[in-house]
Amino acid sequence: MFPMNFSKSNPENFLETQIEFLKGVGPKRAQVLNAELGIFIFNDLLHHYPFRYVDRTRIYRINEVNDQMAYIQVKGKIISVTSVGKQRAVRLVAQLRDETGTIELVWFRGIKWMREILKAGSEYLVFGKPSVYQNKINIIHPEIELTAEAPENINKSLQPFYNTTEKSKIAGIDSKAILKLQRTLAEKISFYEIKETLPAYLIDELKLIPLKEALKAIHFPSDSKELPKAAFRLKFEELFYLQLKLLKLKLVRTEKHKGKLFSKVGEQFNHFYHHRIPFQLTNAQKKVLKEIRQDLGSGKQMNRLLQGDVGSGKTLVALMSILLAIDNGFQGCIMAPTEILAKQHFETIKTFLGDMKICVALLTGSTKSKERKQILDNLKNNSVQILVGTHAVIETDVQFHNPGLVVIDEQHRFGVEQRARLWTKEEFYPHVLVMTATPIPRTLAMTLYGDLDVSVIDELPPGRKNVKTVHYFENKRLLLFGFLKAQIKLGRQVYIVYPLIEESEKMDYNNLMEGFEAISREFPLPQYKVSIVHGQMKTANKDYEMKNFAEGKTNIMVATTVIEVGVNIPNASVMAIESAERFGLSQLHQLRGRVGRGAEQSYCILITGSKLSAEAKQRLETMVRTNDGFEIAETDLRLRGPGELSGTQQSGIVGLKIADLSKDSQILILARKAALRVLENDPHLALPQHESIFEKLALMEKDKTNWSRVS
Ligand code: ADP
Ligand code: MG
Repeated sequence: MFPMNFSKSNPENFLETQIEFLKGVGPKRAQVLNAELGIFIFNDLLHHYPFRYVDRTRIYRINEVNDQMAYIQVKGKIISVTSVGKQRAVRLVAQLRDETGTIELVWFRGIKWMREILKAGSEYLVFGKPSVYQNKINIIHPEIELTAEAPENINKSLQPFYNTTEKSKIAGIDSKAILKLQRTLAEKISFYEIKETLPAYLIDELKLIPLKEALKAIHFPSDSKELPKAAFRLKFEELFYLQLKLLKLKLVRTEKHKGKLFSKVGEQFNHFYHHRIPFQLTNAQKKVLKEIRQDLGSGKQMNRLLQGDVGSGKTLVALMSILLAIDNGFQGCIMAPTEILAKQHFETIKTFLGDMKICVALLTGSTKSKERKQILDNLKNNSVQILVGTHAVIETDVQFHNPGLVVIDEQHRFGVEQRARLWTKEEFYPHVLVMTATPIPRTLAMTLYGDLDVSVIDELPPGRKNVKTVHYFENKRLLLFGFLKAQIKLGRQVYIVYPLIEESEKMDYNNLMEGFEAISREFPLPQYKVSIVHGQMKTANKDYEMKNFAEGKTNIMVATTVIEVGVNIPNASVMAIESAERFGLSQLHQLRGRVGRGAEQSYCILITGSKLSAEAKQRLETMVRTNDGFEIAETDLRLRGPGELSGTQQSGIVGLKIADLSKDSQILILARKAALRVLENDPHLALPQHESIFEKLALMEKDKTNWSRVS
């Protein structure tokens, strides 16, 4: 019995019942559902969707079954049950026979239990994935049910499978148990109304099925036609509300915060444009600058994401935007994720500006306190116009006189929190330009950065040669060394990169050091000079080595991925990546972007062991095939799914339950359009037809998920 009375008129109340009170749950299992699956109330269970369905409408004859088949169902009598093998290697084998033949059912675990429950001579419905062992077809750890006891509809339907965890399974909550709970809940729900969450006109236009129907069908589809309709409806709804939330955030922000107005293009910008740039801007750079200028002159605060492949010339765009700020009496700031990068930006900017009368300062964690104080004073009295630095620039005592524009480079390295803090400490928010060299697929950008405006530099400066990429197995290392020597003879420099992954840090560190020694032996002094840089070195030592390499004093730079981002050494023409199978696609692409910056043909060599997973193979093939960062990002998304896309760990906060950003881009576009239209017509969701939206959004806002981004 339920502890409370529910009225039909208050279904939300019903769906908010603690899961403990669902028949078949109780306090113990409720704890497991809470901790393992995040299911606290009825509504959570209702939205715990199946991740896969298996067609159980068909029962195969045993002689039809082969090991190429996915999950199948057979029916037959168990004619024998025997233990095979000794001690630790023991397994339980049952022979299942129908009128066409026999098949083996095999258990490696839970043998004692299975032995007890399997009844020779009884008829079973058996379900699982056929495989082959010693030329015999078998099914390992099948799902099995006495035909007499199988739920009536089990072999007439698409059977849903639910995500569970190892721990929940041990506690007896597996997919089948969830299914049972879903059935119980569905029966209860059939007595209640579930309030529609989308306005009628959208439902009509998009021919969506009603929410209640969709929720029922997603768990218990009556046939394979109903399922896609239910999935579409629920995916649309999920993406619609996500977009609405993001767009609303943007709307609120632009309403609340006026932007600092950069009304003119002045002396500094013009002087720089006409006298200091040593080359023509690419059309893409011009286009993006125009977009930025429009924002800066609009009176609204800019929050723009600038995407552009490595080497596409983002730094220049950033600098020119800052010059606009200076022309209008404001200061600019560039924030980089590492000290090396911050220094490089600092140097680049100073070189670009040459003798122009603009004071640029560098502030990082290792700035000496006396110098730091001087910089802070100058910042406050406006004698520093551009501050370049690491996250040291967001410390609270760093006070600008009048900050107009903040540029955040390679934003993936910064946490959401940091970005937020960067400008909220200012009362009057500066404009924010976030730059990333990790191209993000459109669908992901629309979700992760759906509240930002996006600019794309989709063109590299002229004369860039594509980096030639090859894949070598480890046993070809001699060939590699020969090639490196030839390149060094031509006067080029070489990177050799080792993985350093947190979990196996110690081992990786040893590999790196072994690699360094091997390379030092292969490339001995005085003919060759080898530098090394890794995360455990003191900053001063790192800088010293970096500097040597940058100035061409060493030929080879052995490093971990600390050099991944942004480093610009045009004379380096070879990027060799050890254990390349361990890197993600976007990381490989980033690393490759370190070469191909000069006039010479550059090379990227991916070195791997001989055993590669199918996915690793695809990654390597993609790298060899293309230099296009967006194509690589799309492949990455397809291979790994959005949750794990490198550098976008934040995507977890999107918390999608049913939509898949790598597959549902069409629905996403529809949803975003619909959300935009709703907000354009009714920015405050005050119209009666939007009441349901308003309510649901308010409910979502109670959710503790952190949505603050750059905003
Ligand atoms: P990103 O930061 O986008 O990876 P950078 O800003 O470091 O790229 O630019 C890469 C290199 O290309 C730099 O040496 C830069 O001076 C140069 N560069 C930028 N814009 C142009 C251009 N329009 N034409 C030629 N070279 C350019
Ligand atoms: Mg850069």
